Amino acid sequence: MTIWYPYTQMKTMRQPLSVKRAFQARLELDSGDVLIDAISSWWCVIHGYNHPQINDAVQKQIEKMAHVMLGGLTHDTALQLAEALVKITPPKLSHVFFSDSGSVGCEVALKMAWQFWINKGEPKKQHFIALKKGYHGDTIGVMSVGSDDESMHTTFQGHLPKQFFMEPENITELESLLSQHHTTIAAMIIEPLMQGAGGFLLHSANYVKEAKSLCEHYNVLFIVDEIATGFGRLGTLFAMDQVGVSPDIMVLGKGLTAGYSGMAATLATSEVFDAFYDNSPEKAFMHGPTFMGNPIACAAALANIHIFESTPVLASIKTIESVLKDELSGMQSQKVKDVRIKGAMACIEVIDPSLLKDAQKIAQERGVWLRPFDKFLYTMPPYCTKEEDIRHICHVMKSIL
Ligand SMILES: *Cc1c(COP(=O)(O)O)cnc(C)c1O
Repeated sequence: MTIWYPYTQMKTMRQPLSVKRAFQARLELDSGDVLIDAISSWWCVIHGYNHPQINDAVQKQIEKMAHVMLGGLTHDTALQLAEALVKITPPKLSHVFFSDSGSVGCEVALKMAWQFWINKGEPKKQHFIALKKGYHGDTIGVMSVGSDDESMHTTFQGHLPKQFFMEPENITELESLLSQHHTTIAAMIIEPLMQGAGGFLLHSANYVKEAKSLCEHYNVLFIVDEIATGFGRLGTLFAMDQVGVSPDIMVLGKGLTAGYSGMAATLATSEVFDAFYDNSPEKAFMHGPTFMGNPIACAAALANIHIFESTPVLASIKTIESVLKDELSGMQSQKVKDVRIKGAMACIEVIDPSLLKDAQKIAQERGVWLRPFDKFLYTMPPYCTKEEDIRHICHVMKSIL
């Protein structure tokens, strides 16, 4: 096997399906079969495949230039995207650092928060608070803020920097941690409202709001990882729109380019930015991915934002949510532990993971691409998925159980 596939024991892996082309919410396989993609290719292809407007924007950009470095050079597409992101995200975020994947976008956020305190003369503030069952990527720095128990990275436990892990909704626990350890803590990082890879776990807007205000009180920066929740997934453009407060740092990825190319953006407030803005070179932020601000990715991201501005995407997400609720909520069975639905996301948590052993195959036979993991059978369809297709996805999920 020449390709080393992700998250998989290569020896026992089922042969991956080969995709010939894709359009709207559909994948056409080499075999000729066509599947509804119920998970938007790891949640990122939010407007479906082969979108005419995004195709057009990308093609126009390629004719100008496919890439140019962002060190010493700049370009209008990146500038336009940075301005557009500042405009649509919470009000205090005003500076954009581009990178090429969500993991790196979160690494940038942590490094930025850590150096913020170094620049302010508080080098002891170098630890992070994260949530139990959180996920912020696969690189070494962010593995340390990923779930501390039964996670996919347990192999490395004990060798990563030690961080603090909190139970979502438990504000008392957070307050007591902050009151004891705030002098050594740089920032708290969370996936607001929904922890995706940890099992599509939901927590309240109120918890996020109170956590942010406690962090502020104890001089700890507040980072939100909206890589999965951003760009409409939970029914509003960003999860933080439901919380109603501005974080200090926000990370976007996945849906940012509507799945057209790898890109992340780490946004910061002026307060964060100003701690680096100085005559001394040591205070500069020493980070710069080769492909940061890639013009093709920027063009796709601008087209994505334009689609949100010019078409009723949020209304389609509302419709998807009501269909998901209609089909799946209140589902009762001895096999089901919980059903969680929010925006264009539905997750059935089963009691016994072995129930999902053949789920992918059963779904495939019925024309749907699902990829459950652990105890979680979920859908996060593209927002253009038609109502009858959403119903079909739900019927297939139910039939698996
Ligand atoms: C997917 C994801 C990441 C990692 O992004 P990559 O582009 O895969 O590196 C980080 N945080 C969250 C919340 C994610 O869902």
